[in-house]
Formats: sequence, structure tokens, C-alpha cells
Amino acid sequence: MSLTSSRFDLIVLAWIALALLLMPIQLRITAPYGRHLRRGWGPTVPARLGWIAMELVPLLVFVPLFLAGPTAKTAPMWVFFALWVAHYLHRSLVFPLRARNRGRRMPVLIVVSALGFNAVNAGLNGGYLGWISAPYPDSWLADPRFIVGLALFAAGAALNLWADNRLIALRRPGSPDYVIPRGGPFELVSCPNHLGEIVEWAGFAVMCWNLPALSFAIWTAANLVPRSLSHHRWYGAHFEDYPSGRRAVIPGLL
Ligand code: NDP
Repeated sequence: MSLTSSRFDLIVLAWIALALLLMPIQLRITAPYGRHLRRGWGPTVPARLGWIAMELVPLLVFVPLFLAGPTAKTAPMWVFFALWVAHYLHRSLVFPLRARNRGRRMPVLIVVSALGFNAVNAGLNGGYLGWISAPYPDSWLADPRFIVGLALFAAGAALNLWADNRLIALRRPGSPDYVIPRGGPFELVSCPNHLGEIVEWAGFAVMCWNLPALSFAIWTAANLVPRSLSHHRWYGAHFEDYPSGRRAVIPGLL
């Protein structure tokens, strides 16, 4: 392996800097997919196909890098591997096939940019764990960082899955309509699914305690905080009776 650990760290730090630099742009320009799809973003493809294509990439890149690399595959590393694979099997196949998105489309530009984003994140995380990291000792399973991170990951994933399922069930099959989501965490924030995803990858960063996992957590927040704010504004503009006490993504704050 010719890429040294310090050079790899520099690449990851540059990737983090890019997330932070792009965040103000993401706050001004809402990514045009889902309810924010609009003209002027070029050719489109069926939304289901777009989701499958862009979210399979993290599996196709992470899995071979992780498996082929020389780093010893200890028990903690298999836990990281299993969580990554479980998340992306769900995101690339279960979520798009369950979503009531018949007839809905997404710009090719979004698919291509998400593909690139996913490839880099999966490359950094799979590359690091497979090729650069020292093996995590089995005793890492008892480390407070592993335990707290795993608990955060599980709580975030549960919230994300629950909220996505609730949202998917709101729409009658075949209807393009949106409905005000109600109940549980939806009374606190407009986008508990995004909040769950942010907590999930923050947990992954804590349990892995490495720079690539941190960069993915930062990118996730940099993508989803602006998207939640856009969703929240959209609800306010489209529903006169939208509950005024709700926040966008962080209960009581934002
Ligand atoms: P949304 O909340 O916009 O949509 C989730 C699903 O529910 C879609 O099928 C959507 O339909 C439908 N839906 C949403 N709100 C309503 C409503 N009020 N009434 C009826 N149907 C509704 O999620 P996103 O598209 O933003 O994200 C999807 C998943 O991907 C989330 O779990 C998110 O966390 C994750 N994600 C992760 C990113 C990351 O950087 N890690 C980046 C982006 C997303 P439609 O699509 O037609 O609007």
C-alpha cells in the first residue's frame, strides 16, 4: 500500500472541508428531488431506479475494499462491516422498493452527484478499515466509545426506519399527494427520519473513532440539516394548519 496514513488523513480532512464549504450552498439551493423536484435540472430518471443506482454504490465500493485489504478482520471490524452492509442493503433495495414513488422522477444530475458522494465516502471508510487502520483489538468491544457509539447508531437507525415507514404509509398507493405527518417525534420535528440518520452516523463515528467515519457523519449532517430546513419551509408553505411549534430537525432548537 503506497498511500501513507498521514497522506490518507490529509485527503479525509480535505473531504471534510469540502462538506463544510458546500453547506452554505446546500442551505441556499435545495437539492431537486422528492418534493423539491423542479424544472431546469436536466433529464430525469424514475425515482426508484435513481435511488437503487446511487445507494448500491456504497456496498459495491465498501465491501470489496474492506474484504480485500490486509488489515486483520477482528470482531469489532466485523461489527462495523455488518452495520454498514445492513444499512445500505436497506437503503438501496428495501427503501426504494417500499416507497410509494410510482411515476415520480429524479434528475440524472442528482443521481450522478450522489453516486460520486457515496463512492468517496465508501472508498474512504472501506479503504481505511481494510487497508490502513491498525486492527481493532477484540477488547474494543468493551470500550465506552464502542458501546456509546453502538447505542447511538441503534437509536438513530430505529428512529430513521420508523419515521421513513410512517412517511411512506402516509401516501395512498398511486397518489402523488403529501400529508401532514403526525404523532411521536413528528410532533417535535418535521424530519425525524433525517434526525435519525444524523444520529446513526454520528454513532458510527464514535464507535469506529476514526477520521473517515467522522467525515461521513459530518457529510450526513451537512446534507440533511439543509434538506430538513427546506422540507420544514415547504410544509409551512403548503399547509395552512401546519403545527407552528415544530422545528425542522433538532427538537426545540432548529
Ligand atoms: P423524505 O422524508 O423526503 O421522504 C421519505 C419518503 O416518504 C419518500 O418516499 C417521500 O416521497 C415520502 N414522504 C415524505 N414526506 C411525506 C409526506 N408528508 N406525505 C407523504 N409522503 C411523504 O426523505 P428523503 O428523500 O430526504 O430521504 C430518504 C432517506 O434517505 C431518509 O432516510 C434520509 O435520512 C436518507 N438520506 C440520507 C442522506 C445522507 O447524506 N446520509 C442524504 C439524503 C437522504 P417523495 O420522495 O415522493 O417525496
